[in-house]
Amino acid sequence: MSADLNAFVTEERIEGADDGPLAGRTVAVKDNISTEGVRTTCGSEMLADYVPPYDATVVERVKEAGATIVGKANMDEFGMGTTTETSAFGPTRNPVETDRVPGGSSGGSAAAVAAGEADLALGSDTGGSIRCPAAFCGVVGIKPTYGLVSRYGLVAYANSLEQIGPIAPTVEEAAELLDVIAGPDPNDATTRFDDEDAAGWAAGDEHPADAATYADAADGDVDGLEIAVPNELVEGADEGVVETFYDALDDLEAQGASYHEVSLPCVEYAVEAYYVIAMGEASSNLARFDGVRYGVSGGFDGDWNEAFAASRDQGFGEEVKRRVLLGTYALSAGYHDKYYRKAQDARAWIKRDFDEALSEADVLATPTMPVKPFRLGESLDDPLRMYLADANTTPVNLADLPAISVPAGESEGLPVGMQFVGPAFGEERVIRAASALE
Ligand code: GLN
Repeated sequence: MSADLNAFVTEERIEGADDGPLAGRTVAVKDNISTEGVRTTCGSEMLADYVPPYDATVVERVKEAGATIVGKANMDEFGMGTTTETSAFGPTRNPVETDRVPGGSSGGSAAAVAAGEADLALGSDTGGSIRCPAAFCGVVGIKPTYGLVSRYGLVAYANSLEQIGPIAPTVEEAAELLDVIAGPDPNDATTRFDDEDAAGWAAGDEHPADAATYADAADGDVDGLEIAVPNELVEGADEGVVETFYDALDDLEAQGASYHEVSLPCVEYAVEAYYVIAMGEASSNLARFDGVRYGVSGGFDGDWNEAFAASRDQGFGEEVKRRVLLGTYALSAGYHDKYYRKAQDARAWIKRDFDEALSEADVLATPTMPVKPFRLGESLDDPLRMYLADANTTPVNLADLPAISVPAGESEGLPVGMQFVGPAFGEERVIRAASALE
């Protein structure tokens, strides 16, 4: 493996079953997904020596399917970033142009696949972390509907938003990996469909993954497909990105699809709402890293507050500290209604906008990222610029919907990704649409 990309935090082989749908394939696993006996760092100094005593459900399923895990992939610390530069283990390089970032936070997973260091990879997507690196590295990434894939064993960043999903060189291979990991899990109640309110699935219904074979949907048949293109998510993008995006749409039109423009008025609040909710949840989820329950010891000299503070001061990097502080502030008494409540309202409006647009189209299409891959170091000192790059991906997590990023072409030699968004549990639709672009 080429050490120069720094795609892996830990290179270690974990053999799977002899046989199964993924026999003979290698898989890179993002380093926030627990692997029994193999350290799982979340890209953080805090967990540099943490070895989980159990496998995440998705890891168990990948092993049962016969795949060989080849290592734990580099990532932004605790998933907080868009470039893989906030990792305590150094940045990962983009194999397409090595002075550029691979995107993030699952940058190690996407770089490993793009460079052929792994056949397939698992990432996690809280606000774009599978789709962004897939787009920047010129590979395919799927962010499943909330509740399709078990999060058991995923170290939580913002649990109401995130899903584990596949990254692969082609749509069909990504869908094959999705077939293996999707489905109900008694260890994650959000994958179960015991009550009526969960996306309209009534008691006794099957889990949507039970009835689907995602790989079969990658048949490239878009004849009659109706695509809606949200103005707000195309207008702000770079010129070269927009050009490549419309060329790809024309290609789909030539294959029998049609598209119309649509407005999603509330997506303008998505980035703000996303960061308030994500930071709020992060401040709570990361409270367990105090040097006693988990993480580097802060030492004890008679005062627990000081010991906790020392642990968190040493263990967390700058971006994580910024988010824990802002999240704690947004949830604090007196500010809760001003920030968190408003963000939850915006989340509901965004969801409604998507539902409306999807009532008159099969899928939505946008550029995955409004920009091309940054040069290394370019965005690190400007967090706001980094956050704004998530404009097209975060609304989808707020709406709990499935989305895929597929290579749409290139602009000045750099990959541009096309994102398709479908209705809840409409993975087959976005997979079918994406496969027509290959
Ligand atoms: N870039 C976004 C963030 O920093 C998304 C990260 C993710 O999906 N884990 O929060």
